[in-house]
Amino acid sequence: MKAIRFAAAGDAGMAELEMPAIRPGHALLRVHAAGLCHTDIDVLHGRYGSGAFPLVPGHEYAGTVEAVAEDVTAVKPGDRVAVDPNIPCGHCPSCAKGLTNLCATLKAYGVTENGGFAEYSLVAVDHLHPIGHLAFETAALAEPLACVLNGLGAAGVGTGGHVPGNALVFGAGPIGLLMALSLKARGVTKVAVADISEPRLAFAASLGLEPLGSGSQDLAARARGFDFVADATGIAKVVEGIIGLTADGGTALVFGVCAPDARIAVAPFEIFRRQIRLAGSHSLNRNIPQALEILSRDDGTMARLVSHRLPLGEVLPFFAKSGNPATMKVQFSVEA
Ligand SMILES: [Zn+2]
Ligand SMILES: [Zn+2]
Repeated sequence: MKAIRFAAAGDAGMAELEMPAIRPGHALLRVHAAGLCHTDIDVLHGRYGSGAFPLVPGHEYAGTVEAVAEDVTAVKPGDRVAVDPNIPCGHCPSCAKGLTNLCATLKAYGVTENGGFAEYSLVAVDHLHPIGHLAFETAALAEPLACVLNGLGAAGVGTGGHVPGNALVFGAGPIGLLMALSLKARGVTKVAVADISEPRLAFAASLGLEPLGSGSQDLAARARGFDFVADATGIAKVVEGIIGLTADGGTALVFGVCAPDARIAVAPFEIFRRQIRLAGSHSLNRNIPQALEILSRDDGTMARLVSHRLPLGEVLPFFAKSGNPATMKVQFSVEA
């Protein structure tokens, strides 16, 4: 089968691989859609986890069950499913608390095990979730959306009936826009997005979001103006600025992936005096079904975040290039 393969750190190419042998408890999936994520590029360069090379990347994927092991009854050939990539150990202190995303030895399809950038993928059946009639391309957004929902949960948005009056998300890339649209889905009526890219801001506006230039006077005039502010850029300087934009009693969420050695300066007095809640979040926590439920209710706006549907060989160059504002979510896609 054809696959994208990381042979070693920094070395991504096309490969012709053996079909995976079916193991007990597993299903062979025919991949119909797999999304490219910045994490894949971090994995390629050994910046994420231990770097289990060689590796087929891809942790955002959906497809049909092609075959199952003899002991499997939960799914059957022909079933349409999305994959939960995270493989927690189940018994470390974090897992015991239900925080499987913080597992001390977290593994994942596409990170430590072969993932979705291949014609077929072998997946343990308890990682498969039915997608109903959702298009595969839409279902492949369930993983990043689940990460967004985990972040909103960590920030207390939409839990216990708490809905912020307004919100601001930094970063008008696919994940930032997915977060902005999720805030709307959670009942926040006024959601703004800040970015430096005019084309990306124009796209955000077309999705019903308020565009704000990052570093602009318009944005500076909104200091302490947002009940909820999230960073989805992973730029430490941006994170440093989000507290100043958060309203008294509001919440700031660190969602983007900053460099591990980056530092910011904040005034603890301000966090105290203005009763700011600071939240962080990592990955998803067994919430693919909730993401699929939101995607099934969406009117197609979230699916517009997929800008490229390509064969495997044409996805490969996107591991090396980034920063084109017209590029949103790039997917490996096979016609159903
Ligand atoms: Zn991802
Ligand atoms: Zn664990």
